[in-house]
Amino acid sequence: MIDFHCHLDLYPNPVLIARKSADEEIYVLSVTTTPKAWQRSSAIAVGYTRIRTALGFHPELAHERKNELSLFRKLLPKTRYIGEIGLDGSPEQKTYFKDQLFVFSEILNASANAGGRVMSIHSRRAVDQVLDELSKTPDAGLPILHWFTGNQTQLKRAIDMGCWFSIGPGMLSSARTKELVSKIPQNRILPETDGPFTKIRGKATTPIDSWYVVEKLAYIYQVSYNYFVQQLKTNLSEVGKFAIQ
Ligand code: MN
Repeated sequence: MIDFHCHLDLYPNPVLIARKSADEEIYVLSVTTTPKAWQRSSAIAVGYTRIRTALGFHPELAHERKNELSLFRKLLPKTRYIGEIGLDGSPEQKTYFKDQLFVFSEILNASANAGGRVMSIHSRRAVDQVLDELSKTPDAGLPILHWFTGNQTQLKRAIDMGCWFSIGPGMLSSARTKELVSKIPQNRILPETDGPFTKIRGKATTPIDSWYVVEKLAYIYQVSYNYFVQQLKTNLSEVGKFAIQ
């Protein structure tokens, strides 16, 4: 199984979660929220062949961490995955939107200059702006929009631009988001939990819950669970091929 967006370093006991995920043979993209967190987070993954640690710079932290951009550039050669990066246009984050845009575009340019990366991207209430920035830097890499909550028009634009999507518990309950998910091509989707920030039955999710996500996704697509697991394995290997290019 696969959890393509999980904050491993933000659990009370990341080492335990990493070990349990390995026991269950789950592939995990362990995203980080600041360049500083990357080194500590990648240490958690040492010895685990199915965990990749993405170098991140969360939009909510852009304004107070701009000075970490140089560290981001320094660490970039060490990983083929970046995230969580992106933009957040929700009312409480909009004040610093200029800083977010600055950091996001610097990251996309750095990624393009480094030959491209697999990118896990946050786009809450800022889908158009995220897509605008991505179209300015088409060589930045493979964009995977995490927890996508745009509208149908934005979804179509993202698909036409070649974006992928990682979908988690937050998109599997409302009729609107389920409808949206059903329109995502099955060969552009990966499951995620966004743990520990999402809950299933009142409990913080872990990569183990990706099974639950996949069950729900298979139901939305009206395909069998086993068929869909095979599709997801193919998708992961496509992303992996991009990563090692
Ligand atoms: Mn996240």
